[in-house]
Amino acid sequence: MLNNFSGQIFFEEKLAPYTSWKVGGECQALVMPKSIEDIQLVLDYCNENKVPYLVLGNGSNILKSDEYFDGIVINISKTLNSITIEEDKVTVGSGCMLPKLAFHLAKNEIGDFAFYAGIPGTVGGGIVMNAGSAGKETKDVLLSVTYIDETGRIIKEPASKLDLDFRRSKFQGRKKIIVSAEFKKEYRAKDEALTATKEIADRRRKKFPLNVPTAGSTFKSPTGGPYPGKIIEDLGLKGTTHGKAKISERHGNWIENIGEASANDINELINYVQHIVKKKTGIDLEVEVIRV
Ligand SMILES: Cc1cc2nc3c(=O)[nH]c(=O)nc-3n(C[C@H](O)[C@H](O)[C@H](O)COP(=O)(O)OP(=O)(O)OC[C@H]3O[C@@H](n4cnc5c(N)ncnc54)[C@H](O)[C@@H]3O)c2cc1C
Repeated sequence: MLNNFSGQIFFEEKLAPYTSWKVGGECQALVMPKSIEDIQLVLDYCNENKVPYLVLGNGSNILKSDEYFDGIVINISKTLNSITIEEDKVTVGSGCMLPKLAFHLAKNEIGDFAFYAGIPGTVGGGIVMNAGSAGKETKDVLLSVTYIDETGRIIKEPASKLDLDFRRSKFQGRKKIIVSAEFKKEYRAKDEALTATKEIADRRRKKFPLNVPTAGSTFKSPTGGPYPGKIIEDLGLKGTTHGKAKISERHGNWIENIGEASANDINELINYVQHIVKKKTGIDLEVEVIRV
């Protein structure tokens, strides 16, 4: 299919193992590029043959439907994961995991990336979602992003041009592929940075259901509200199940796959919660996870 492609290709691959909810049907092919050139080859192939594609990072914020995807999934989570510390900035490949970045930078006396310690996504996914926690978000530490556009061109843009807002960026719903990013480099004493990073990781282990398949927060919970976790709890919806999808007893904004749930189970539970919350409180909960 792709001459000169140096990465891996898996045909008729089931996507469930690649998502944190462990749901999602098969696709025509899943490719794991090893380089930027590999990504460009895939894009050329898709454009020439009119094959649809979608990008997957670590799959921790995606609800992939049970339906067959007659296209190519470009999985950037095992490669493009270098971290280069320069004099005035840090350049990171989009496949680098956020917790790895947080600990690596803390060890190198660079802060403040502790907020990434418990977010199980890649740098690419973190930028698309403007991921954040503990009062900080990607926007606070990002300098610029390099991506490949739909035609295969490599473009670098400053963070100020990416429309970064609460769990939002201009990359959502688009076909651009982030390959690397530059981050701020600010000094923070190693002990202090490492302690802060470990503390956040520990706190989250206690607060959230991390031993079951979820996608973290299902609905957006911006500073200033609405706070979906509290609303869902107050309405007595915690523990509600639909098929094998369940609203977590630990946190109302998290939906657990309690065993072989389908994407449809989860999707219908999301719709049900939105419906009940709207009916009883008048509040529209905005879905954070990307449904594809
Ligand atoms: C246990 C758990 C805890 C979580 N806690 C938090 C939290 O505290 N804060 C928070 O913000 N989020 C949290 N999340 C959600 C999730 O981890 C983040 O949104 C993360 O940034 C998603 O990254 P990903 O690589 O998994 O992206 P994916 O889920 O793979 O993709 C998300 C979106 O980004 C796109 N995308 C991914 N990579 C690229 C790329 N290289 N180029 C272009 N588009 C790309 C995808 O197409 C998709 O639209 C949590 C999830 C889980 C499972």
